[in-house]
Amino acid sequence: MALTIVREQEKKKEKRKRKPKILAIINDACTGCSGSPICVTECPIDDCMNIVPNPDAPVFIRIEVNALNCIGCKKCISKGPMDTYLEGCPWDAIDMVPLADFEAKHGVLEY
Ligand code: SF4
Ligand code: SF4
Repeated sequence: MALTIVREQEKKKEKRKRKPKILAIINDACTGCSGSPICVTECPIDDCMNIVPNPDAPVFIRIEVNALNCIGCKKCISKGPMDTYLEGCPWDAIDMVPLADFEAKHGVLEY
């Protein structure tokens, strides 16, 4: 029987060239997907979705988005256009927020 190995896709490593209009933010619904986060697999950018300890339960993980690397592509979420279902986060734990709102709260991102 042939052995099928699912590999994480090759991720882009070069710095993004312009600011995106929206950014991914992880909300409190993140479960860490039992240590196998599908969002990280779907994200095409290197060092964008990173695994960190869950501050409320340090034996578990959660995800943090590196706002300087996110390109706003929405591949990590499961809500597609016209109510289609994408293969991203199954727990609705990722919000796409306008860059202007993010920068108003966290300061202007450097490029
Ligand atoms: S929006 Fe795209 S680049 Fe940003 S975290 Fe999600 S998959 Fe990665
Ligand atoms: S897919 Fe969703 S719930 Fe799972 S680790 Fe990523 S953000 Fe958290």
